[in-house]
Amino acid sequence: MNTDLQNERRKASFSVEKITNMLDGGADRTKRRRQIEEIIERDPSGIFSNEDNMYLHRTDRHIRALAKHVRMVEICRKLGIGNECNGEIVMSKDFPLMIKAIADDLPTSLHWVMFVPNISSLCDEEQKAKWLPLCRDWKMIGCYAQTEIGHGSNVRALETTATFLPESKGGDEGGNWIIHSPTLTSSKAWPGTLGRTANHAMVIARLIDGAGVDQGMHNFLVPLRSMRDHKLLPGVKTGDLGPKIGYNNMDNGFARFDKVKIPRRNMAMRFVSVDENGRYRKKTVSDATSKISYITMMQVRAYIVDEAGKNLAMATAITTRYSAVRRQGYSEDGTTELQVLDYKQQQHRILPLLAASYCFFFTGKKVLERLVNLEQRLVSGKGNVTKTEVADIHASTSSLKSFTTTVAADGIEDCRKACGGHGFLQCSGLPELFTSYLQNPTVEGDNQMLPQQVAKVLLKLLHAVQSKSDLSSYDNCDSKVLIPSLQSILGGGAERCSAKSTKDLLDLNILEKCFGHRAARLLVGVA
Ligand SMILES: Cc1cc2nc3c(=O)[nH]c(=O)nc-3n(C[C@H](O)[C@H](O)[C@H](O)COP(=O)(O)OP(=O)(O)OC[C@H]3O[C@@H](n4cnc5c(N)ncnc54)[C@H](O)[C@@H]3O)c2cc1C
Repeated sequence: MNTDLQNERRKASFSVEKITNMLDGGADRTKRRRQIEEIIERDPSGIFSNEDNMYLHRTDRHIRALAKHVRMVEICRKLGIGNECNGEIVMSKDFPLMIKAIADDLPTSLHWVMFVPNISSLCDEEQKAKWLPLCRDWKMIGCYAQTEIGHGSNVRALETTATFLPESKGGDEGGNWIIHSPTLTSSKAWPGTLGRTANHAMVIARLIDGAGVDQGMHNFLVPLRSMRDHKLLPGVKTGDLGPKIGYNNMDNGFARFDKVKIPRRNMAMRFVSVDENGRYRKKTVSDATSKISYITMMQVRAYIVDEAGKNLAMATAITTRYSAVRRQGYSEDGTTELQVLDYKQQQHRILPLLAASYCFFFTGKKVLERLVNLEQRLVSGKGNVTKTEVADIHASTSSLKSFTTTVAADGIEDCRKACGGHGFLQCSGLPELFTSYLQNPTVEGDNQMLPQQVAKVLLKLLHAVQSKSDLSSYDNCDSKVLIPSLQSILGGGAERCSAKSTKDLLDLNILEKCFGHRAARLLVGVA
């Protein structure tokens, strides 16, 4: 190993193994991660080598990535990964380790990132019992098709329709939906896994019930290709969108539906249902039910926060190591060349990003835990979940997604620049990390748009404080921390910072209060 790198590592004031264990979730998880990494690295098929990636044509990369998927499933089955979750490997806690060890984008990823969670969250027990085993066996491979050519951010303007077919009324199993793209602009565009890989899509479409009433956007499971021979089904037109700035293993696609008929029960029916007579009904679970359809989106956003930390960590690890071995410029006595890492300017560039990567990693974990808890309370009906709480976590996941992905995308690019010319080479790992990461400020809600939704939720809180309403519904909310500052500012009182010295400004409690006060002041300013 390079001596400079060795020397830097020797200087560590902490136990690297302890931190590694903490990041992995325990010493046993570190051990398991290392086992899985070794299995992937030494796999005799050689398919997991990423060495030639940059020399492959996009189509070949896609095909090779599919072959990686197939081999990964074989290995998971052999190792018994997923046995603890009824054979569903994507639910196993070893599965993310497998994906990280492969270190390449798999075209099947939207299947487990969005499609399976969508079925699990939004479908009723009977539907889950029917579809999840097919997902588990990779007979059903799905994508999530919401965005259309005409509309992305403005979900309410989506044009794809799911119309109840009156002629097919009758019997428990009766009824069909006609999935239709009435205009060119209503064609689904962008869903990952759709272009070539998926045989099903969870399509977000405008539900027109048996009485001809538009009930807004709902989720419909639409078969795209045959599960037997992968041939396109009648009425479905789909394909790949073409080469992108990055993330080129993935077949982001388009789809147009020409009056495609699907069974009535292909509508996700955990929280709403349409009976065989076309009657639309909201099922009552709690007053938060109307918001529950956002839960998958919130989970994906929390996952994106976690990933922002991991991607930024990869970039900062490459750049920090490079800065330790790169020597440029002389010391004052002119005898030795300095390590680039010794320059304050370089440290100011890299170290805050390194700190941010830890921060995002732990924040992502915390938000995911909160969402799991929220979903459990919603499903069990135990533990009161208020609409305020759902709106609050929606605001937290939205703001964190927007903030962390902006910092991570800009940060990865700055890491690349901080490696000078070598950062421009694909073999540094940074260009592909950057270009593949670049989708994150756009997907799951554009980063400029999401803060608007956050502001809406916070203005509601401000209004509640202003009108001296009962604030108990904010008890489980992140935004609760703003209440004392809002009360103080609105009441004309002056909140005082308790810092007495510059040292106090390193106290996390004081800093948190300062940020809370600043946020409250800005909020009052916006209103
Ligand atoms: C790599 C990638 C993968 C994707 N995967 C999927 C997927 O799996 N499934 C899926 O359904 N979709 C997917 N998408 C689509 C993605 O969710 C949308 O691109 C995103 O929601 C933004 O929508 P849009 O592209 O229509 O942009 P637009 O909504 O047209 O936004 C364009 C610009 O206008 C601004 N803007 C829009 N409205 C307003 C407003 N009200 N106020 C101020 N500014 C505004 C935005 O901030 C943005 O800068 C993917 C996209 C990419 C790039």
